[in-house]
Amino acid sequence: MAASITSGVTAALAALDFTPTLAVLVPTRDEATAWYVRSIERAARKVGIACRVVQLDDPTPAEVAARLDALSADPSVHGVICQTPLPAGVTLDEVGAHIDPRKDVDGANPASLGRLAAGLPTYPPATAAAVLEVLRHERVPLEGAHAVVVGRSTVVGKPAALLLLEENATVTVCHSRTADLAAVTSSADVLVVAVGRPGFVGAEHVKPGAFVVDVGTNPTPDGSLVGDVDHAAVAPVAGRLTPVPGGVGPVTTAMLLRHTANAAQVIAADG
Ligand code: NAP
Repeated sequence: MAASITSGVTAALAALDFTPTLAVLVPTRDEATAWYVRSIERAARKVGIACRVVQLDDPTPAEVAARLDALSADPSVHGVICQTPLPAGVTLDEVGAHIDPRKDVDGANPASLGRLAAGLPTYPPATAAAVLEVLRHERVPLEGAHAVVVGRSTVVGKPAALLLLEENATVTVCHSRTADLAAVTSSADVLVVAVGRPGFVGAEHVKPGAFVVDVGTNPTPDGSLVGDVDHAAVAPVAGRLTPVPGGVGPVTTAMLLRHTANAAQVIAADG
């Protein structure tokens, strides 16, 4: 599915007479982040988007904000993202406000989330957009369906819930204080899991035949990734279950590139 999205991006870029640039601010040094950034660079190169990686070492909140201001003001940059994890004392909401909403291709500016909540055009966080793209691609009926999202982070749970609402699903959001989680999740036609705990969702959480989207990406000691869903237990119960790795992850990168291509088109049209 990621491949069909990226081929659409390549086609959209053919109409531009310049190469869009995605700036990736990396405010910490760690192997998982470096791996992810390399995968964005590779995917961007394939579709014809230039990637400018800006690595910072132990920056203060003010330094992160100043870099995002500078990238937002740079006319040669069309999309700006700030990689997590962030240094201690820095929050994404705080620094995200320094990304120009026109270039906010990963929906990090709280203004972008506000626009999403208001039903206005915006770039939702790429992972939440990827959840919806997977459901659309698989032609999962959403209108009138009960969609349950487990997790309420600003980057995944909340925007995914808002996007599902836009599709006329009846949406329930669960979190760590939800009473009797299994009673809620097992009534879901569509279950989106973004918790960050390996194998957290078991068969008892899933309605037979439900479509389950596993957003979790938890590193294992052997260097691979596992989701937030116990795949061996849930696969026999669910109607469909997205894989980890290879499900939402690659579609997230594809959505980031689609948003960058859109941003470049809009910025070019605005002059
Ligand atoms: P996060 O910010 O840590 O949020 C986790 C959410 O799970 C919180 O809302 C938390 O509730 C909830 N939660 C924790 N324990 C729970 C419990 N026992 N019962 C119910 N809810 C519980 O994590 P995130 O950034 O949203 O990421 C979630 C997962 O998605 C992680 O595995 C992450 O690696 C993955 N992810 C994947 C991609 C991708 O591209 N595929 C992108 C981003 C994230 P409270 O709010 O009450 O604390």
